[in-house]
Amino acid sequence: MIPAEFTYEVADSVDHALSLLAGFGPDAKLLAGGHSLIPMMKLRFARPSALVDIGRIASLSYIEDGGDHVRIGAGTRHHDVHRSSLLGEACPIVSYAAGLIGDPQVRHKGTIGGSAAHGDPASDLPAVLLALGAEFVITGEGTATRTVGASEFFTGPFQTAIGPAEMLTEVRVPKTGASTGWSYLKFNRRAQDWAIVGVAALVERSNGGIGSARIGLTNMGLTPLRASSVEAALAGAGRDAIGAAAALAADGTTPPSDTNASADFRRHLAGVLVGRAVEEALGH
Ligand code: FAD
Repeated sequence: MIPAEFTYEVADSVDHALSLLAGFGPDAKLLAGGHSLIPMMKLRFARPSALVDIGRIASLSYIEDGGDHVRIGAGTRHHDVHRSSLLGEACPIVSYAAGLIGDPQVRHKGTIGGSAAHGDPASDLPAVLLALGAEFVITGEGTATRTVGASEFFTGPFQTAIGPAEMLTEVRVPKTGASTGWSYLKFNRRAQDWAIVGVAALVERSNGGIGSARIGLTNMGLTPLRASSVEAALAGAGRDAIGAAAALAADGTTPPSDTNASADFRRHLAGVLVGRAVEEALGH
């Protein structure tokens, strides 16, 4: 398919991108790696009147130590997130999950900012960022910034807290200490496919058992979701509680039925994967 006609401009800074965006009006879109937006345009699910290309803004690509968190520029490619030694030490679930996205070509073009801003509930990083309680730095006209927590960021299917004249400029992920075990399990039929269901687990170990757990679900509803019933059942529990807690994984979810799996199969899968992810997190 061929996209509908659009105007195209390359931005050389955040300021420049925001002024182009404001000038083009609400039908314009930012183009980062283009690996979600261009397919949507080819299918004519998206018909932006103008594209502002932010893929060459070097200042948007960085991974830096922010003290108790790691600052990741929105334009950082999945490949660089995956290979980052800082993230590998300080927040390994993020670098690990980035390495499971698509194939090498997708990971060399797609960005963490594009993945978050796209708001696709089937994408891998959003559930990870939600489980972590990441923060999103959004920049608006005049380069004023505001910071939104992960629980308020993903507002609906393909919708986020980013306004039409704003852009995501940074993602902040908290460092996970030595007492926090982690796992991201992605179930798909072929290695490079999207998750049929994915589970991100962060488990705080305490006295040989579980202190607290944070569980994120991929492709189990209209947005990435937290498995709150599982988290409540695991708080302060022993390892023997994992099976019963995992059985609650689909509580409050609305998984899709599609050519890959029925909603019922996804509910079943969520329970299996949550149990395995919590076990794996306790071992990490
Ligand atoms: P783009 O496609 O450029 O943009 C996506 C949306 O975000 C657009 O609406 C755009 O306007 C907006 N946007 C981009 N950057 C910003 C910003 N800084 N501020 C505000 N809005 C912004 N993803 C997975 O999670 N798992 C997979 O297994 C997976 N497999 C894939 C396989 C294939 C074959 C392809 C083509 C893609 C796959 N993806 C997968 C998607 C991939 O991760 C995308 O790169 C990512 O979802 C979007 O990032 P992008 O930089 O390409 O964004």
